[in-house]
Amino acid sequence: MAKLDSGPPTEMAEWSVAEAVDHLLLSQRLANFRTGTRLVLLGATGSMLAIIIAFYHSVPLVVLLGWAASVLILLAASNFSAARFEKSPATYPALRRHWQQCMALEALRTISWSAITVYLAFFVQGYQVATLAVITMANLFMVLLVHRTAPFAAAFRLSVLGLASAVGMWANYGAESLPAILLLALYLYALGGSVREQDRQLIQWAEAEVDRNEAAGTVRMLLNDYEEHSSDWLWTVDLGGRLLGVSERFGEASGRSQAELEGSPLLDLFLPGEDLDELSHFLQRREPFRNHVVRFPQGEVVNYWELSARPRPDGRTSGVARDVTSDRLIEERVAFMAHFDNLTGLANRYLFNERLRETLETDANARDLALFYLDLDDFKAVNDTRGHQVGDRLLREIGNRLENEVRGRDLVARLGGDEFAILLETRLGAGMLLERAHRFLSVIREPLEIEGQAYRISGSIGIAHRCEDECDAEELMRRADLALFAAKDKGRDTIALYSDAMDRAARERRTIETDLREAVARGELRLHYQPTMDLDTGKVSGYESLLRWYHPTHGIVPPDKFLDVAEETGLIVPIGEWVIRQALAETSRWEGDFRIAINLSPTQVGSPYLADVVSQALHAHEFDPARVEFEITEHVLMQKGTLCASNLDKLRELGVQIALDDFGVGYSSLGYLRSFPFDRIKIDRSFVEGVERENDSQAIISSITRLADALGMATTAEGVETRGQLDMLRKLGCHEAQGYLICAPIMGERFATARSTAATFEDEDSGIIEYRQARDAALSRRQTRVN
Ligand code: C2E
Ligand code: CA
Ligand code: CA
Repeated sequence: MAKLDSGPPTEMAEWSVAEAVDHLLLSQRLANFRTGTRLVLLGATGSMLAIIIAFYHSVPLVVLLGWAASVLILLAASNFSAARFEKSPATYPALRRHWQQCMALEALRTISWSAITVYLAFFVQGYQVATLAVITMANLFMVLLVHRTAPFAAAFRLSVLGLASAVGMWANYGAESLPAILLLALYLYALGGSVREQDRQLIQWAEAEVDRNEAAGTVRMLLNDYEEHSSDWLWTVDLGGRLLGVSERFGEASGRSQAELEGSPLLDLFLPGEDLDELSHFLQRREPFRNHVVRFPQGEVVNYWELSARPRPDGRTSGVARDVTSDRLIEERVAFMAHFDNLTGLANRYLFNERLRETLETDANARDLALFYLDLDDFKAVNDTRGHQVGDRLLREIGNRLENEVRGRDLVARLGGDEFAILLETRLGAGMLLERAHRFLSVIREPLEIEGQAYRISGSIGIAHRCEDECDAEELMRRADLALFAAKDKGRDTIALYSDAMDRAARERRTIETDLREAVARGELRLHYQPTMDLDTGKVSGYESLLRWYHPTHGIVPPDKFLDVAEETGLIVPIGEWVIRQALAETSRWEGDFRIAINLSPTQVGSPYLADVVSQALHAHEFDPARVEFEITEHVLMQKGTLCASNLDKLRELGVQIALDDFGVGYSSLGYLRSFPFDRIKIDRSFVEGVERENDSQAIISSITRLADALGMATTAEGVETRGQLDMLRKLGCHEAQGYLICAPIMGERFATARSTAATFEDEDSGIIEYRQARDAALSRRQTRVN
């Protein structure tokens, strides 16, 4: 808008300003002249009659009537000219011509009056003097009414009629009239001055007026220019908020005609809402405002207009408007992306956090909240084996299903990956919350068909519940997290409700973490070994190294208690390296021909130093690589984009063997069997447990052994605890067995002599007793743990 009050006037503008002043001046002069003439018409007619009556007897009637007729003719001519002028358009030349005519007739009237004044002066007697003197003075003073803005006519009348009066007085009284003549001259001078002054004011006014119009005109011109060249348009409303002087651009922008808009309320154009109320408030209160966005409906779509305006002194409000729909859409898109998950359209972690915090802050005491954290089981495997597109479809579908399970004001969010959160405002008790969680799990479990193939997936849920003002948002999320952790720990397709025990467990984990760091340095870690038995020969075929933590206060801590923490914190890498070196160092001193098995966790397999560590350890102890077997679980194969695959290949190149541990509990075991050429399959204890009684377990184990034979892989059954299991496993075609029945994991020293390797299970005297004792101890330990 700054543009409007600047800019040098062009030559063209200057010329038109002068012309406009002339034009305005002339029309004003004419207007003043005409009103003046009308005002004195009665007086002039009266003067004429007074002269006729006063001089009726002293002056020839023909002169008086002739004079009166001339005055009347001049008046008639004036009127005629005015009437004709009013019909034709008031162009400047036409005005000028009319003015000149008026002035000519006026001059003639002055001459006519002056002539009669001089003439009568020679006849004047007695009271006639007074009549003539009054009429003459009136005629002179009349310039203030008729000629106040016609300076030439005034000058002409004052001088000619003044002279006539002076001549008349001199003719009657000679030198005695001199003072009166001087007085007359003085008056004439004053009258002339007055007219001059009035005329000066008129000119000033005209110039000012033209300047103002010109300025307004320039503004208008610039505004038009502004409208044409910018994306904005201007608007003005009156006190009642109705549109005035609607511009073409406004019409175009609103898709309505200017006529339709003119006089209609501005507010009616927009959609109701808070934004509109605010606009109405601004207009009513006559407050200036900037960049206020309102919604403008255009057919089916809603556009956004940004208005700025300030009230004007005349009661109106003027401003600019701009269509900001496209900016707005971009903004909205950005905002959407910032708050919503692209894939599922659910709230994202950010919005979820906001909502949770908001809910707790706005109504801290009144809200009872339940927070469900849901994590899909083995989703990674689906993604890896079936492809990302299937994974994405699955996530979308699960998002939909969950959303259908909640009410409008509850929130379902995808926190990332395969993690969902559900926030419910509820006063439900623990039982009902578990019920809800079961319902969520059951909708997830329903098979989903993608491209003709049915997919099944399960999930685990952790629930945290907040009653009254018991915890804040952070704490609630932490609790749900702990509950989910606990659920996952229990296995797949499970639910856990937060309890303080979880909190204690979490604290314990933290203690373990700090302790474990020191344990490595203090040498509190040891290896136990558990032999495997060849089911054909009954002899020991190898030993599996199993980690133990000799804790100064807790005693011997089994790996389940600390491996998770080690895995989470990355401590597993240095620990695992130690295990590799230690196992090879220790067993390299043992006599006999046996295999040594070492467990590797997923993080370890992903470590870039693994192959180097193994090869160094093999060299250091001159260990035959073929005697070393690394055990990995399916979780290792589920890790994508890591070094896992290349590390496994490198291990293979070193000549070591690789076994698939815990076979049968993973997501898609057979698929993994095909993905890597394992040397051995270790059949999980869960199948061995029921193998004496359950036909299912027998069928599974028998098909695993047949498949393994076909693929050229060996099989080891884990967790064999009874003679019956052992016999059945042998019958089902297993090559090796491992378990408390044979020997529990024990300290390595016991196996240092060849005697142990040579011993058979049936051979009571050859050290197996030691195994038996260890087994009994292990069984009773387990018994106490179960109790
Ligand atoms: P795993 O590799 O499946 O090891 C077998 C587990 O079964 C051992 O538990 C062993 O003590 C136990 N076990 C052996 N025979 C029987 C039986 O007859 N009945 C029952 N109920 N259990 C039996 P442990 O030593 O507590 O180890 C647990 C898991 O920790 C191991 O499972 C392995 O995955 C992991 N682990 C152990 N040592 C290491 C290690 O050095 N590095 C890595 N990364 N993981 C290890
Ligand atoms: Ca193992
Ligand atoms: Ca195992």
